[in-house]
Amino acid sequence: VQLARSVGFCYGVDRAVSEAIKLLKSGKKVYATGEIVHNEKVMNDLKELGLEMIEDTLLSERHEGIAIIRAHGIDPSSEEKLRRVFDEVIDLTCPIVYNVFSLAVDLEQQGNFVVVFGKRNHPEVTALSGRLKSYLIVQPGEDYDWVLKELEGIERVAIVSQTTMSNVDFEGFASFVQTRLGEKATVYNTICKVTIQRESEAERLARISDTVIVIGGRNSSNTKKLVKIVQRLGKKALHVTDLKDLPRGDMGKVALISGTSTPYEQIQKILDYIDNNREVTDNGRENESAR
Ligand code: SF4
Repeated sequence: VQLARSVGFCYGVDRAVSEAIKLLKSGKKVYATGEIVHNEKVMNDLKELGLEMIEDTLLSERHEGIAIIRAHGIDPSSEEKLRRVFDEVIDLTCPIVYNVFSLAVDLEQQGNFVVVFGKRNHPEVTALSGRLKSYLIVQPGEDYDWVLKELEGIERVAIVSQTTMSNVDFEGFASFVQTRLGEKATVYNTICKVTIQRESEAERLARISDTVIVIGGRNSSNTKKLVKIVQRLGKKALHVTDLKDLPRGDMGKVALISGTSTPYEQIQKILDYIDNNREVTDNGRENESAR
């Protein structure tokens, strides 16, 4: 099995999950307003340790305990709400995400109109746009002509991206705008390097194998993106959350990659399983035994 050069949690997710575990183990009551990580297994483990999910509608009542802000960040008005109703709020926004928030605010203060390339309902984009006075959110795959109409008459445009967008999509959009607006538009590629690295690894693995196993939660958009990259190159991609999702029979040459919200233990479990179910065939090539 060819293992991707980078697997497991990214820095921001690792930091948020480890801090949450530390707080929970210290016996404190800990709340989160959304999934800390888009991974069912990790979320279930955290809930077993006592993590409570809290609905937005309950944020008018006072709560004893700590609210944590997840790696995606939160918009300032929601953060203020949390600070009003909880004893303490611990901000676990990934520092890389936070830098993008600060950059966008600075760009706006310097007189730029900020265009955010990202998903409209993604928490990171909501947290980012919540810091700006006016902005445009542009999603990949849209007909970008509407953006030009919206930008008519604007002197300076700054384009930033949600940290987990596809680099190829972002570059496509940025060059579309720059070709039309010329020097009026400045591009800031704020996609996280981990995201870019995983994308290029997915491409590399798709080229050298028959099947790429992509391990990650069903709600994890970065995992789904890796699946699409493999499929775009005409190879079989298996989105696997656990052992039960692994098919029986020969998968040919297998490679393995994970989303940024997949813990290493989950990957190791699948690797061990594949290893234990392989045999060497007549021609010496490793093959899967019938499972
Ligand atoms: S993908 Fe990058 S920016 Fe997003 S949480 Fe992970 S390290 Fe931070």
